[in-house]
Amino acid sequence: MTTVAFLGLGAIGHPMARRLAQKTGIDLTVWNRTTERATSFAREHEETGARAATTPADAARGAGIIITCLPTSADVEALLDAPDGLLRGMERGATHIDCTSGDPATSRRIAERLATHGVDFIDAPVSGGVGGAEKGTLTIMCGGDAVVVERVGLVLSAFGSRIVHCGPVGAGHALKAVNNALLAVHIWSAAEGLAALARAGISPALALDVINASSGRSNASMNLFPERVLTRAFPRTFRLALLDKDAGIAAQFAREQKVSAPLLQLGAELFRAAHAELGEEADHVEAVKLVERWAGVEIA
Ligand code: NDP
Repeated sequence: MTTVAFLGLGAIGHPMARRLAQKTGIDLTVWNRTTERATSFAREHEETGARAATTPADAARGAGIIITCLPTSADVEALLDAPDGLLRGMERGATHIDCTSGDPATSRRIAERLATHGVDFIDAPVSGGVGGAEKGTLTIMCGGDAVVVERVGLVLSAFGSRIVHCGPVGAGHALKAVNNALLAVHIWSAAEGLAALARAGISPALALDVINASSGRSNASMNLFPERVLTRAFPRTFRLALLDKDAGIAAQFAREQKVSAPLLQLGAELFRAAHAELGEEADHVEAVKLVERWAGVEIA
């Protein structure tokens, strides 16, 4: 049996933990800041033997693998250091896998600190959304020692079907941030173009059909706009606040690499504005509503 602790049962963490609970050979303990979410998870998965821990230290004690999936790397770092935090429970030889979409610099700092405690660290952010987590088909972008990535592959395969070693610690977070910055730019630019077409009386549904058979297509035009914008459904699967955070990490990363990246910087600014306007609970696709408001037209 591999003993796994999973911390952070949010929109994507919950289905990832469920996949772990259902995988043979894994003895799972979960922890969540709002305790009720962890206790109800343990109740729902009682037959698998999953249990809820009362503190991060309690979750980490005896675990060979500790997985975190929190909003930011700063949240992960704070969880290490709290009086009943992870460092109190982590044992030498354990591996910490951080599935947060975090930032490379903080992860490098965390990895250095954990190394002094005899604990390995890999950053392992995911893509594929809540649906991919439910189906176990996430892509997992790993940063860290290749031998460690190889060693935890079986556990990661509970929720991921494509496990990619990207480079040293921080490489996974850098790649994930760039991916999400592209998502942000695609959503925003598609909204601008479709708003202009709508104002000219050209149907957004017709425009999307044409774009999706042409070279301007993206995941935003092929999936997000038809399923979430045209229908006005805007389901809440990935918070706008989190995409704002990711676009900001990518913009910072480009600056650190001394790459001139005006589009990534602008994308980050626009998503920061959308986050401020639409609040903590808005979904990322709702950024389109800000473009619509400015244009005085609905993409429907
Ligand atoms: P949610 O906002 O849905 O959930 C956040 C989770 O983190 C909750 O369990 C919350 O606990 C917990 N949490 C928040 N702040 C703290 C804190 N300071 N200390 C301890 N726990 C905390 O986020 P998601 O599950 O959507 O996202 C998690 C990570 O995965 C993010 O980095 C995100 O960018 C990334 N991601 C998300 C995807 C998605 O489709 N949702 C897709 C790919 C990556 P509580 O229940 O108490 O609020």
